[in-house]
Amino acid sequence: MPAPASRLARNYAPLPVTVVRAEGAWVEDADGARYLDLLAGYSALNFGHRHPDLVAAARAQLGRSTLVSRAFDHDLLEPFAAAATDLTSTEMLLPMNTGAEAVESAIKVARRWGAQVRGVPAERATIVVADGNFHGRTTTIVSFSTDPDAREGYGPYTPGFRHVPFGDAEELADAVDDDTVAVLLEPVQGEAGVVVPPAGYLRAARSITEEAGALLVLDEIQSGLGRTGATLAQDLEGVRADLTTLGKALGGGIVPVSAVVGRADVLGVLTPGSHGSTFGGNPLACAVGIAVCELLADGTIQARATRLGELLGARLDALVADGLLARARRIGLWAGIDLPGGLTVDGRRADGHDLCVALARRGVLAKDTHGATVRLSPPLTIDEADLEAALDALRAALVELAA
Ligand SMILES: *Cc1c(COP(=O)(O)O)cnc(C)c1O
Repeated sequence: MPAPASRLARNYAPLPVTVVRAEGAWVEDADGARYLDLLAGYSALNFGHRHPDLVAAARAQLGRSTLVSRAFDHDLLEPFAAAATDLTSTEMLLPMNTGAEAVESAIKVARRWGAQVRGVPAERATIVVADGNFHGRTTTIVSFSTDPDAREGYGPYTPGFRHVPFGDAEELADAVDDDTVAVLLEPVQGEAGVVVPPAGYLRAARSITEEAGALLVLDEIQSGLGRTGATLAQDLEGVRADLTTLGKALGGGIVPVSAVVGRADVLGVLTPGSHGSTFGGNPLACAVGIAVCELLADGTIQARATRLGELLGARLDALVADGLLARARRIGLWAGIDLPGGLTVDGRRADGHDLCVALARRGVLAKDTHGATVRLSPPLTIDEADLEAALDALRAALVELAA
């Protein structure tokens, strides 16, 4: 067989931009063309590319130690756990690497807690999840995805999950019963197109789970660490989950760092040997994670996300008013925009990918999701003038597609 043109598995279809350098909100290709990054690594780059404090923390740690494994202790594990639990008003931390691993870990902890503390038989234990969820790509997680692209062909699937419509507190209350060990939700569904639930939904989820004696597990891998204008999206509703998953921005865009933070008595079901990770909590990850927590400690970045988010919202509302967008959903510096029906490219109806191509031609990078939706999640550190320029480019690209 002849060698394929690309040796890379084709599980992505990237825009025709090849990045060779990046700094702050900007990326650059080999020809020196510059683009504003309005995806920011799906929020892994909340602090921009190569934030100086984070790069300095990583560089310094490279000169000390990078991996010791959890078979031995190291000097940054407890400081990382302290920094992340202080930041999130939680009690205990389990360090992992990727987001999916953090969610898998939370599922394992919830099931073990259900079996050992609540006495729910393993074959009956249920975790209630939302339609339209995105929690990662492992076999168990795609088992309860409702996105056919993410799920199809990967069976047999892991049982033990029940679905409810996202944002409907009554349906959630009806779905929770004696066998429910946990409710697992994203406070805002990012991958689904930045779907913000009605006010009070997380508070309702908190009281429903409390009454039923089930755990509330909130996946803040994308919504957490400043994106919504609060440290955690759940802060906006004054709610504290029993377990919260963190990832993406926790690694500062430098290394994969994820964690489950939450109640000490719940994470306490883990005993030596019952769970683990070769790389979880490695010194380099901890050094970057601590620096990320320090960046967020005084609330400046969160306040900036709130302020720039209002600007973003006003500009998007104007595009909706002008008929250039069908809808715009926004929380903090995070938005999902839906294209109206009337946009065309080459005589056919334009989709989110077409808009992203038109934006890239204007020096702005963004990513479509689910057909006619584009997600905007600029670095929280983006200059106001750069954000305005990106939104000018968005209007121009929409006008071009509407012509
Ligand atoms: C990205 C994401 C994940 C998965 O994180 P990976 O690091 O890609 O495994 C899980 N949950 C949410 C809400 C996410 O946005």
